[in-house]
Amino acid sequence: MEPFFKPPLHKQRHQFVVDFIKKYKTKKVMDLGCGECLLLKRLKFHKEIEHLVGVDIDGAKVKKKMHSLGPLSTDYLQPGFEQLCVELFQGSVTEPDARLRGFDLAVSVELIEHLLLPDVELFSEVLFGDMAPVHVIITTPNSEFNPLLPGLSGFRHPDHKFEWTRVQFQSWAQVVCEDFGYRVEFTGVGLDPGGRHDEFGFCSQIAVFHRLRGGFNVWPGETIQGETSYTLLHRINYPSLKDNNVLRRVLLSEVLFWAEELKRRWTERESEDTEESKEEDWNEHTGACGEERPPEEEWKSVAADDESDLWRLNGIAQSRNCASQRGCVPVPLDLLWASSPRVAALCKSPANLRLFLMNEPTVKLSQDGCALLLRTDEDEEREADLDRGGAAVEPNQRVSAKLPENWED
Ligand code: SAM
Repeated sequence: MEPFFKPPLHKQRHQFVVDFIKKYKTKKVMDLGCGECLLLKRLKFHKEIEHLVGVDIDGAKVKKKMHSLGPLSTDYLQPGFEQLCVELFQGSVTEPDARLRGFDLAVSVELIEHLLLPDVELFSEVLFGDMAPVHVIITTPNSEFNPLLPGLSGFRHPDHKFEWTRVQFQSWAQVVCEDFGYRVEFTGVGLDPGGRHDEFGFCSQIAVFHRLRGGFNVWPGETIQGETSYTLLHRINYPSLKDNNVLRRVLLSEVLFWAEELKRRWTERESEDTEESKEEDWNEHTGACGEERPPEEEWKSVAADDESDLWRLNGIAQSRNCASQRGCVPVPLDLLWASSPRVAALCKSPANLRLFLMNEPTVKLSQDGCALLLRTDEDEEREADLDRGGAAVEPNQRVSAKLPENWED
């Protein structure tokens, strides 16, 4: 039956759900009768969704593909601020479970026709009466379309307990609306290629319900008391920058990347300078006798878009704060801030960057807190030689071990 439609019918059903989610920006979405998690796999890419739940009575079916719902390596390398938790349950939609209350959207794609009619009643009560999501999408075969499906005799699937006409489906939906306070719209996917839409309707009929009254108001993280009849099979929390540990790891790696890059530029510049020009530079800023140096504020507040100025002033900072710390290159935080848009986006302000680094035990700042201290290449090589000689040194002891206690000397 599938090649009859382009794109295939199951893809059209899933696309309908995706379009709905984009329109209504639903954050908490559950797929009842999720099967092999095909729809969930598509939905995990939709940034508006924060909580995605799948339920199916057949746990083995869910487990088959559930690992495809995990984060991709890019989600770990470049996490965003969005949050996503995916949960998969084994359970029957004819039984309530308090963890499924308070959702924005419940989807049930080609499930209802697998239930016996008394179970359809239970399903209606559980879904619209207990879970009571803001929106519900139900899809089911339209039996009026069956004569158009080549080679079909009887139901479309051996497990179907019924297949409804448009009137039967709409009557059930209207009763649900009256009983539980919803309104409904009818539509579908899968058009007759012969254009006889009025006569046959859609191949898959769809009812979209919208809750009329306020229902559960469940806040993120709130635990709902009540019966829990489903078995949790799998829970996946995607890495998010809203998680402080993730933010810290990403920020630190971005800062260190840029600091190393700036150190490399600084080292190249240094090696290009002659001893003479260094002397001139020094005299220009310190005065021939070295008595008057620019105030500290000058290099701190320098416009960050002029890298050469920053490095020039950095030389001064180095002389003021770090000259005695042989083996260190001070990378100004202003320059770091200006070099990496990602650092700027993650920290929001230069003051936050400084605060973050002050509290980060694996890095060292200059005494005035305006520069990140990185060891020079020569120093790293010297230490590698020492290590080869057998002396084991902790990484974050390495800079400080080389620094004299008295910074002003
Ligand atoms: N919704 C999926 C999709 O669109 O690909 C799968 C649809 S499949 C035709 C019907 C699914 O409903 C099956 O995975 C079946 O195990 C599940 N199912 C049947 N009865 C159920 C029940 N009482 N509670 C939960 N799931 C049920």
